[in-house]
Amino acid sequence: MVEQQFGIEKDTKVKTRLVRMDEQHIDAALVKEAGDVIKAGGLVAFPTETVYGLGGDALNPLSSAKIYSAKGRPSDNPLIVHIADMGALDAIVREIPDSAGKLADKFWPGPLTMILHKSEAVPYETTGGLDTVAVRMPVHGVARELIRAAGGYVAAPSANRSGRPSPTLAKYVIEDMDGRIEMIIDGGDVEIGLESTIVDLTAERPIILRPGYITRQMLEQVLSAVEEDSTIMRDDSGQAPKAPGMKYRHYAPKGDLTIVDGTAECVVEYINTRIAMHRNDNKRTGVIGTDASVKEYRADVCKSVGKRSDEEAIAKELYRVLRELDDENVEIIYAESFDTDGIGQAVMNRLLKAAGHKIIHV
Ligand code: AMP
Ligand code: MG
Repeated sequence: MVEQQFGIEKDTKVKTRLVRMDEQHIDAALVKEAGDVIKAGGLVAFPTETVYGLGGDALNPLSSAKIYSAKGRPSDNPLIVHIADMGALDAIVREIPDSAGKLADKFWPGPLTMILHKSEAVPYETTGGLDTVAVRMPVHGVARELIRAAGGYVAAPSANRSGRPSPTLAKYVIEDMDGRIEMIIDGGDVEIGLESTIVDLTAERPIILRPGYITRQMLEQVLSAVEEDSTIMRDDSGQAPKAPGMKYRHYAPKGDLTIVDGTAECVVEYINTRIAMHRNDNKRTGVIGTDASVKEYRADVCKSVGKRSDEEAIAKELYRVLRELDDENVEIIYAESFDTDGIGQAVMNRLLKAAGHKIIHV
């Protein structure tokens, strides 16, 4: 295990300690230190199987306030409470419906968040003023040990500054959070790369608010009928949001992003024609393609998210590629479109949001 302090800029207030710890080498003393930071009201960024989380004590209203301020996130956008053991659930919810018990049996620990009615133990600062609470039990070993060491309830949104893609590597957490939080645990790259599936169990029927690795089909193997929020794949600008958090525009890259859908040949031809046009206007261009197509593009910066047939790899690479395009200061971005089977639906949901639902069919 390597441990180091790193450079802090003069104008930042908090000294951020960076430590490395992966699932295979859990250091109990270090976990205890990180847990103590959270218990004392501080913030620790840590790896999970989905993306890096920014953790604070979920039952301490001051910690939630600190999370919002470190992220620059509006405080009516609710946080997900992370637990490590099923026994911890009782204290934070009013009741555990059958559906939640069944889903927990099958998918916890794992990348599934359930919305339940909150108990009085959960402050409104954590739930963005709602009477419901979002709960998840991650499977990542470091996350679980940290949650236990921190007292059992860790509020953790993704560890990015608001408006940036969720971090899938510790270096992106450092970029966004250095000087703003007490500690960052570098656990290497994450497994899934997209945020958890969110299912609301407080409505008449279970409803998916955000797609993720756990798909509707997988949920329906346990619960007979699961609905999907209508805004998952469609423009939501005209709809009233289900929860305050859903009204916020998701990450959008600095460049103007358009998705192009069609046969491989037509997509390449269309994008290259557009790029030639933008080049005449002296615009810096970028493309999000796949291993098979990326060499065909004539943009200034061409990035592959992997093999088209490997949707799990695409999910894992998408946020990294979006960050790299931002870092390269491209002004115009074209992305290929992806299949919406399985985790592909979550990939397209994030990409459509990033593109403000701009999609062209060629
Ligand atoms: P994350 O950005 O991964 O921290 O996820 C937080 C998102 O979970 C919020 O933006 C909401 O969309 C959703 N969420 C959290 N708590 C609730 C809740 N009580 N009711 C509905 N959605 C929620
Ligand atoms: Mg987030």
